[in-house]
Amino acid sequence: MKQVKCLIVGGGPAAYTAAIYACRAALSPVVVEGPEPGGQLMTTTLIENYPGFAKGVDAQSLMMEMRAQAQNLGTEILSDKVLSCDLKARTAELGSGEQLCWETMIIATGASARYLGLESEQKFKGQGVSACATCDGFFYRGKTVAVVGGGDSACEEAMYLSSIAKKVYMIVRKNYLRASQASKERVERTENIEILYETVTKELLGNVLGLTGVRLERNGEIFEKEIDGFFLAIGRHPNTEWLGGQLEVDAQGYIVADGVKTAADGVFVAGDVRNTDFRQAITAAADGCRAALEAEKYLKK
Ligand SMILES: Cc1cc2nc3c(=O)[nH]c(=O)nc-3n(C[C@H](O)[C@H](O)[C@H](O)COP(=O)(O)OP(=O)(O)OC[C@H]3O[C@@H](n4cnc5c(N)ncnc54)[C@H](O)[C@@H]3O)c2cc1C
Repeated sequence: MKQVKCLIVGGGPAAYTAAIYACRAALSPVVVEGPEPGGQLMTTTLIENYPGFAKGVDAQSLMMEMRAQAQNLGTEILSDKVLSCDLKARTAELGSGEQLCWETMIIATGASARYLGLESEQKFKGQGVSACATCDGFFYRGKTVAVVGGGDSACEEAMYLSSIAKKVYMIVRKNYLRASQASKERVERTENIEILYETVTKELLGNVLGLTGVRLERNGEIFEKEIDGFFLAIGRHPNTEWLGGQLEVDAQGYIVADGVKTAADGVFVAGDVRNTDFRQAITAAADGCRAALEAEKYLKK
C-alpha cells in the first residue's frame, strides 16, 4: 500500500492551494483530483473577483495555472477518484483499485450540481440535459432552451444562453426570482428570456435522438413547451458520499468542522464542502492554505 504524508482529495482551488502550501512544508502531497479537475470554476468564464487580475481572469486558465503551480512545486497529481476511506485505519481506496495509507488528509471535494430527481432527466443527460450552460450552451445556437431555477446562478445561466439560443424559458417554482436586484433586472430586460413563474417541471420529453420538450405544471394546469436543451441551475450538493458518514454533516450535508479541523484526528476540510458561510474561489483557496498549515502543525506534533 502506498504511504502518503498528506493526501489531498479534490481538484479545485481549495485542493490546489493546499497542495502548494503542503509542498512548501515538505509534506510531499498527493492530490486525487476526481472527476472535475479544476473544480466548479471550469464551468464558468470570466472571474472578476479573484485578486491580482486588474481586468479579471479567465476561470479555466486560473485553475490550470493553480494546478501547474502545485505540480511545479512537487505535488503528485492522480487523475482518479477516492471511492471510500477509513478514517481510523487512515486508508483510502481509489477508483483504479489503488489503496493509499495517509498520515493526514485534506478533504476538498467541493460541491456538484443538483438534479431534480426525474428519471427522464437521467435519460436525456448529455442528450439535451445539462448542468452547465457555459460548457454546453454552444450546442444550442439558434435553438430553444429552458433553465430551471430562480437564483443568481439560474439568472447567470439564462443570460449566457440568451446570447446563443433563439429563446430561453426560465422555469421558476416561486412567484419571484431569488436573485440579486441586478441579476433580476438583467433577465427581465432581455427580450428572448421568458420567465415562467410558479411553474414546476413534471417530465422531460424526447425520443431516441434526445430531448424535444418539457411538461410543466402551473397552478394545477399541465402544459408543454418544445425545447432542445434543459439546463439545471437549482443549486449544488456537497460531495461527501465517499466518506460513508464517518464525519458529522449539517442539514444540507456540509461537513461540520471547527475552522478547517474535523473531529477526526489528522483530517482537515477546506472549501465549499465544509459548513462555511462563504463559497468563493478565494475562500476555498484560503481554506486550503489553512488546512495544509494545520496538517504541517499536526505532523510536527
Ligand atoms: C457557474 C459558477 C460560477 C462561479 N463564479 C465564481 C466567481 O466569479 N468567483 C468566485 O470566487 N467563485 C465563483 N464560483 C464559486 C467557486 O467556483 C467555488 O466556490 C470554488 O470552486 C470552490 O472550490 P473547492 O476547491 O472547494 O471545490 P470545487 O471547485 O467544487 O472542486 C471540487 C473538486 O473535488 C473533486 N472531487 C469530488 N469528489 C471527489 C472524489 N470522490 N475524489 C476525488 N476528488 C473529488 C472534483 O473533481 C473537483 O475537482 C462559481 C461557481 C460556479 C458553479
